[in-house]
This record gives sequence, structure tokens and C-alpha cells, in this order.
Amino acid sequence: MILILKSGVSDEQVQHVLERVESMGLQAHLSRGTFRTIVGIIGDEDKVRAEPLRAIPGVLEVVPVLPPYKLASLEAHPQPSIVSVGDPAWVDEARFGGGHVGLIAGPCAVETEERMHAIAAHVKQAGAGVLRGGAYKPRTSPYSFQGLGEEGLRILRDAGRAQRMPTVTEITDPRLVETVAEYTDMLQVGARNMQNFVLLTEVGRAGKPVLLKRGMSATVEDLLMSAEYILSQGTADVVLCERGVKGYDKATRNLFDLASVAVVKRLSHLPIIVDPSHATGRPDLIPDCALAGVAVGADGVHIEVHDCPEEAKSDGPQALLPDQYRELVAQLRKVAEAVGKQL
Ligand code: PEP
Ligand code: MN
Repeated sequence: MILILKSGVSDEQVQHVLERVESMGLQAHLSRGTFRTIVGIIGDEDKVRAEPLRAIPGVLEVVPVLPPYKLASLEAHPQPSIVSVGDPAWVDEARFGGGHVGLIAGPCAVETEERMHAIAAHVKQAGAGVLRGGAYKPRTSPYSFQGLGEEGLRILRDAGRAQRMPTVTEITDPRLVETVAEYTDMLQVGARNMQNFVLLTEVGRAGKPVLLKRGMSATVEDLLMSAEYILSQGTADVVLCERGVKGYDKATRNLFDLASVAVVKRLSHLPIIVDPSHATGRPDLIPDCALAGVAVGADGVHIEVHDCPEEAKSDGPQALLPDQYRELVAQLRKVAEAVGKQL
């Protein structure tokens, strides 16, 4: 940590800053320049992070040297993490990161048993590794379809197992962690809950891999700090997901922030996947954006697929048809190979 002191700081103030730092059990190194005086702090940054250093008279700025997301950082773990999803006793494991591109596909919401089984068969045949489907839907309107609840979890699990596919589903309430974790192989924290810290903590204790989606107005650092909440509870398996942030342009549902994938690669060992379905909201753009995601370094692609989008209970207009998805997977395979990864 480096403290930059105000110009014109008095000798008494400098002395006070040094004493305060040392009283925290850390070493202070004073360096006086012509225009600025700075104090380098040597020791465990965590000891001082919580201290209101900036409130000490004479301190202008506090510059941390290490990122605040210690466990999620590349410093903590210089090799990319590989996250495996699914119990091989029931399903075929899917992998994300470290050269593995994982594919998650399925409808926005679990609707009926028949439909879930039909879509599962389609996406499995196309090459997807993880089956998705929401049983608890976070809807903007309280009057919209809210999901089938526990019955939806059961349907999703059974459809997944019938195809030997692990499943992922969104969890919206910390009180449901045990129930959801019983049925599913991976817990999804959605964009609307990315900073629900109680939920992040509970999900981190569940012992299942977590899919953490970027909040719609969250920075990359916010996303990594939320991952840190989960990791700090003992779960090592977190997959991040770029699903677009709020933008001003109505041409797409959200603003697909492809650069965030490249940024995360430079800051963290955690796998990051892209979700062009929620990012663009447009089936005509989803394939191009999915390919771009893998080209830029994504460790997976999350796509909503429905066999009859006009009947879908949520997000129908952005769903890809099974045939479109199959075509896309063939192209994704080529791009993954071109960037030295396997699908
Ligand atoms: C979803 O995956 O269906 C969903 C609601 O995603 P997001 O949280 O990214 O909006
Ligand atoms: Mn959706």
C-alpha cells in the first residue's frame, strides 16, 4: 500500500502518519520528493485495508499494491483454474477453463417435463455439456411466470440425467440453497443477485460449483469481489459469466462487453464464459457474438435454446432453435481449435 500525502503536509502530520502506520504493526517508509511526499507501507495489506487511512490528516490518496480480491487474483493462483461440473456417477463431467471450452444450453425456464426432455436431447446431440433451465425466475414483473419451483428442479435433474448432462439452475434465495443444491450440479447466481452478499456466502458454503453472472451495472472489479465472497467460503469452483451490461443503445438488450473477458484473463485465474443470449437478446446476433467470445478467450458459452420460442414462458424472443444451435456449435468448435482450446 502506498500513501500519497498532500502537498504542503506539515512535519507533524508526516510524523503522525508514520506513527499510525507503525501502530498497526506495519513498517512505514518515507520518501520525500520535490513536489510530493509518499509513504510506502510494508506488511500484510489486509491488516490495513479496513483502516480509514485516507482520513488521517495530510493523506491525499491511498494506493493499494495488491488487488482486493485475493483468492480470485492471478497472483494467488498463476495457473488458470479448471472447473469440473457434474458427478460422474450420474452424468458426463463438463469442464471450463485451462483450455476447456464448456457449453451450457437449454431454455430460459423449465416449463414442462416433455419440453425439458426434448430440449435436453437436442442440445446434447448438438454437443452441449451442461443443461440449463430456471426453476426460480427473477422477473422484473411480479405478474410474470416465476418458475415451477422444486418441481422444476426435479424435471431439470431428470432431463439432465436422461442425457447424462450435468445441470445448472439459478438460485435467487439464500433459504433455498440446500434444496437447489440437492437437485443440481452447479448453482447460478444471476445478474440481479451478483451483489446479494448473503446469497453469495450461502452459495459458497454449498460445496457445488457456482456460475456467477456479471451484474448489469457491475464493474469487472465488482464481479471479482463477488467471486471472492464465494471463494472465501471454501468453494474453489467459480465460473464467471459476461452477460452484458446496461447500455443506452436499444439495438441490443444489453451491451455485450467482450473486452471484459480479456480483462478478467489478465486479473484472475477463474474461468469466464460468455452469454450472448442475455447480452444481445437477438437470435440473429447470438452466433456471431458467441464466436467472438471464444475468440477473445472465453472458457465457455451459455446460450438459451427452445424448440418453440413463441410458446416460451420467458425469454422466447432471444432463444435459438435447436438447428441453429447445432450449426453454431460446429462453428464454435473451429474457433476453439484455432485458439488452441478444446470444446
Ligand atoms: C438467465 O440466465 O435466465 C438469467 C435470468 O440471466 P441473467 O441473470 O444474466 O439476466
Ligand atoms: Mn433468460
